[in-house]
Amino acid sequence: MSILEIKNLHATVETPEGTKEILKGVDLTIKSGETHAIMGPNGSGKSTLAYAVAGHPKYQITQGEVSLDGEDVLEMSVDERARAGLFLAMQYPVEVPGVTVSNFLRTAKTAIDGEAPALRTWVKDMKGAMGDLRMDPAFAERNVNEGFSGGEKKRHEILQMQLLKPGIAILDETDSGLDVDALRIVSEGVNRAKESTEIGIMLITHYTRILQYVKPDFVHVFVNGQIAEQGGPELAERLENEGYDRYLVGSGS
Ligand code: ADP
Ligand code: MG
Ligand code: MG
Repeated sequence: MSILEIKNLHATVETPEGTKEILKGVDLTIKSGETHAIMGPNGSGKSTLAYAVAGHPKYQITQGEVSLDGEDVLEMSVDERARAGLFLAMQYPVEVPGVTVSNFLRTAKTAIDGEAPALRTWVKDMKGAMGDLRMDPAFAERNVNEGFSGGEKKRHEILQMQLLKPGIAILDETDSGLDVDALRIVSEGVNRAKESTEIGIMLITHYTRILQYVKPDFVHVFVNGQIAEQGGPELAERLENEGYDRYLVGSGS
């Protein structure tokens, strides 16, 4: 059982024009087994929320709290956050030259579990998960994200999640740029991970499309650095029909 609690989170970033506040008081609680969709227009601060919780050094937390199972996340290094059970699938996954997928995953698994996985079950688990995600086994020996297509990068993110079994996973636009088949495969991967462990998911998305496959328990509308409204799956349907215009009036963005 994991619980991520975000309270009144404010975060800034340094820009050439000066310090800019991007998160303006975010409150959100995610428990194991729950899927929370975070939906909002471009530039509203969704990725900043993901990075701030994951510990990206570019984002300065100026106010508020983040805790995981009662432990202060903001006091933890990025590594400690991962070991505590936090996982971030980035909107734009980065290349890791010279490190193969196979080595990367095994190193991450070892770091998170505190011991190396037993080789035989590990190889079997990895091959199984890659097969589930329709990834060519040859991917295991390729360098992380080097020359990967958009869809391959997203599958690789879900492969990590499936193998690392985090308590709380933040998926930042894991659906963007995927064709219908890839979207279904990636979504099935998310659902499998949800079934095998009681994972709590923050599913950041710009579109309602993925929510037809990965059913959210809660939907939060994210506008101008804050949650503007929350509801159930029906809220996603309304956003599909009406867009974000009603929230943007007077927000100044
Ligand atoms: P979203 O993911 O909702 O599209 P982002 O969190 O990526 O939004 O960005 C929110 C706002 O913060 C945007 O105006 C963006 O330009 C700005 N921003 C985010 N990161 C940085 C950064 N590292 N430097 C400067 N501006 C940034
Ligand atoms: Mg964006
Ligand atoms: Mg983003």
